[in-house]
Amino acid sequence: MNCIKSDILQAIATHPTIIIHRHIHPDFDAVCSQIALKKTLQQSFPEKNIFAVGCDAENLEWIGSMDVIQDHEYRDALVIVCDTAEMKRISDQRFQLGATLVKIDHHSDGENYGDLTCVDPSYSSVCEMLADLFFSYPESFNLTIEAAAALYAGIMGDTGMLKNGMAGERTMRVVSQIKKFSFKPERIHRLMKKNGTDLSKWKQLVAYRAQVTEQGIASLRVTKEMLENLGLDSYEAAPLIHALVAYKPARIWVLFIEEDGKIRVRIRSKTAPVNEIAKKFGGGGHKLAAGALLSSWEEADQVVEDLGEKRMR
Ligand code: AMP
Repeated sequence: MNCIKSDILQAIATHPTIIIHRHIHPDFDAVCSQIALKKTLQQSFPEKNIFAVGCDAENLEWIGSMDVIQDHEYRDALVIVCDTAEMKRISDQRFQLGATLVKIDHHSDGENYGDLTCVDPSYSSVCEMLADLFFSYPESFNLTIEAAAALYAGIMGDTGMLKNGMAGERTMRVVSQIKKFSFKPERIHRLMKKNGTDLSKWKQLVAYRAQVTEQGIASLRVTKEMLENLGLDSYEAAPLIHALVAYKPARIWVLFIEEDGKIRVRIRSKTAPVNEIAKKFGGGGHKLAAGALLSSWEEADQVVEDLGEKRMR
């Protein structure tokens, strides 16, 4: 972390109210880090007001629900934003109303925002960052079973159940410390699976609509019209990227989804880094998983072309 862990502890200790945010289109790590931090702070600092806010994340509600708070709660508050590289992607833009802003993130190429910026891409997930912080100060942080379970789910989410190459030696150490709490990992695995999507229903769609270039770039374009025909909104169509990866052999996979006059792109790669190209189009992310919001289908063509050129070099 570029800010030292004791700075975070100091910021927490000196504010009466702490409001925790994360990104739009939340994934496991975003919601789990938010809820794990909330529950740990509630247990460790019972005299403080602790809230977790942001748009509802329907499939992730089993991890914890969001608080609905009034603007005045932000006065004198410490706002901690988890897992969000850029300010425009923070869910609930009232984060700006707080007295002090802290960013905790593991994306390598984000925006430098906040009074305190704790960014370290060597961590698999923000849940791993938080677990490391909590275990570094056992006299200050009291973990509950619920918080430990959320940390576990967040780490499993971002590391693809420890299988996608993001998990390192520290991840394993932290997981073994978290597992000392008596939550049931099998229950979490079951809930994660259940709340994932059954991809097989998209097998045909991928077979007929996805295209693969000579350079091994598989892409699928989901237009507004297709969304209507499928009876899905853009959020519900986002897991199609997993079906593309599962059913279309390639080296890089790209899903385009039309939403609100823009095109959301989700990029996944086996080995070649893709975040530089996402960044070129105003987005960002990790080496093997990145995304951006595009303005046109011409830009979508350009993304595929650029990824192909990168592969050829
Ligand atoms: P996703 O495909 O939405 O799961 O995103 C993969 C990674 O790329 C995540 O780390 C996101 O935070 C990042 N990402 C996705 N979209 C954007 C964007 N528009 N701007 C910056 N980062 C993004």
